[in-house]
Amino acid sequence: MTRSIGRRHGPRTLSNFVGGSFAPAADGRTLDDLAPATGEVIARIPRSSAVDVDAAVAAARAALPAWRRTSVAARADLLDAVARRIGERAEELAELESLDTGKSIRTARTVAIPRPALNFRFFAGAARHDETGCHSMEGALNYTLRAPLGVVALVTPWNLPAYLLSWKAAPALVMGNTVVAKPSELTPLTANALAEIFRDAGLPEGVFNLVHGLGAEAGEALVAHPGVAAVSFTGGTATGARVAASAAPRFKKLSLELGGKNASVVFADCDFDATVEGVVRAGFLNQGQVCLCGSRVLVERPLFQQFVEALVSRVSAMRVGPPSDEATDLGALISEAHRAKVEGYLALAKEEGGTILCGGDRPTLPPPYDKGAFLNPAVVAGLSPACRTATEEIFGPVVTVHPFDTDAEAVAIANGVRYGLAASVWTRDLARAHHVAAELETGMVWVNTWLLRDLRVPFGGVKESGVGREGGRHSLEFFSEARNICVKL
Ligand code: NAD
Repeated sequence: MTRSIGRRHGPRTLSNFVGGSFAPAADGRTLDDLAPATGEVIARIPRSSAVDVDAAVAAARAALPAWRRTSVAARADLLDAVARRIGERAEELAELESLDTGKSIRTARTVAIPRPALNFRFFAGAARHDETGCHSMEGALNYTLRAPLGVVALVTPWNLPAYLLSWKAAPALVMGNTVVAKPSELTPLTANALAEIFRDAGLPEGVFNLVHGLGAEAGEALVAHPGVAAVSFTGGTATGARVAASAAPRFKKLSLELGGKNASVVFADCDFDATVEGVVRAGFLNQGQVCLCGSRVLVERPLFQQFVEALVSRVSAMRVGPPSDEATDLGALISEAHRAKVEGYLALAKEEGGTILCGGDRPTLPPPYDKGAFLNPAVVAGLSPACRTATEEIFGPVVTVHPFDTDAEAVAIANGVRYGLAASVWTRDLARAHHVAAELETGMVWVNTWLLRDLRVPFGGVKESGVGREGGRHSLEFFSEARNICVKL
C-alpha cells in the first residue's frame, strides 16, 4: 500500500510552543518543510529569531520556580502520562516521522516511534529510584542533594527526531529543569505533536517550550542565551564545535553527541548468516543515517571474499521505495542536498581507487516519488582504510569493506579515524571479543549484535564523537547539579 500523506492533507502550518500556547514567529517569517520522498512542501514552520528565543527562555524561566518545587514523584507521574499519550498517538507519530524524514514506515513503527514512550517511562522510573550519597565522617555528616540546573536548551538533529528529543526532554524535565527545544528545521513535525502531548498531559505552561528555525539563527541564539544554564546537543561534529564555542563564554554545562565513522569488525569464526544480517542492519538502518551505523566493514581475510559476496547479495536485494509502503526497506535520504553529498562521496571513492560493488545509483520510481531523494544502497571495495571515503562520515547508505589479517590490524584500522562513537565485533570466540572490545577507542562496543539498547547504560562517544554521556543515571546527573551539605554533629 502506498500513499502520500503530504498530498492528502496539504501543507500544514506549525507554530512555536511558548508558555503553553502555539504562536508564529514574532516577525511572521516561515520556512518550508519538504517531504524527502516527494519534494512536496508538507509544512510551513516559524523561522524564529533571537526575539522568539528570548520569549521562550523568559517563559521557561517564569515556570522554573514552581516546577523545581514540584516533587520528583509528581514530575515522574507526568512523564508517565506523557508516555501514555504518546502510546495512544503512536501510529500518527510514526506516519508523521516517516513523512518528515523519508524513513520507511516500518522503521518508524519499529525503531523511531516506540522509543519516545519508552524514554518517558524509563526516566520516570529512573528518577523515582534515584539515590544520592551520604558520607559520614568523624563529627559530621555529608549528604548530597541534586538541584535542577535551570532552563536547559535541547538541540536535536533530523535522523531520529522524536527518539532523540524525548531522550533529552524526559531526564531534563524529571530533574526539575524547564526546557527550550530547537528541533531540526528539516524535521519539525513530531516535535509539535510532542508539544501538544505535553499540554494535553497537563505539563504546566512554560515548562516545555519549542522554537523552530535555522541552526545558525534560532539554534545559535538559544545556545548563547544568557538565561540558558546548560545545552544538550546532538548533531554533526562541525556544528558541535560551534555550539561548544557559543556556550563557552558563560561556562554552560554541555553535552555533545556528535558524528561517527563506526567499524563492524568481522572475524572468520563468526556465525556467518547472523553476522551478514547484523552487519547489513548496522550499515543501512534508516538509509545509513544513524550516528551508530557501521559504515566500515572490516573482515578477516580468510572470510573476506565470501562475506563480501553475501553482503552484496543481501544489500542488492533491499527494497528502496515509497516510505509509506510496508514492504519498503529503505526510504528516501533526508534531502536532495544530502543525497548530492553522499553521491559526491561515491564519486570520491572511485577517484580514490574504489570499486562500487552494488548500488550508488538512483532507483526509478513512479511519480510523485521520482522527485524524492532516493539512492540505492552501496557497497564499496578496494579502498585504503586511510582514504577520505573510509574515514569521513558520509551518513548515508554506503559501506566500505576492508580485509585485515590480525586482531591488531583490525583494531588499528577501526581506531584510525577522528571519531570514536561505536563499534561492533562479530566472533564466536568470546575471549577475543573481550580483548578487541577493550582495545577499541569508542564509547560503545556491541558484540555479535548492534543497536541493542539498555537505557541504563552510558551512551556517548570519545574523540571527536562527543563529550559526556547520556543514559540512565548519566542523564540524571547531567541535568542536575550535585550539591553537598556538610552538617557538624
Ligand atoms: P546538524 O549538526 O546539522 O544539526 C543538528 C541541530 O543543530 C539542528 O537542530 C540544527 O538546526 C542545529 N544547529 C545547526 N547549527 C547550529 C548552531 N550554529 N548553533 C546551534 N544549533 C545549530 O546535524 P544534522 O545534519 O541534523 O544531523 C546529522 C548529524 O548528527 C550526523 O553527524 C550524526 O552523526 C549526528 N548524530 C549524532 C548522534 C549521537 O548520538 N552521537 C545521534 C544522531 C545524529
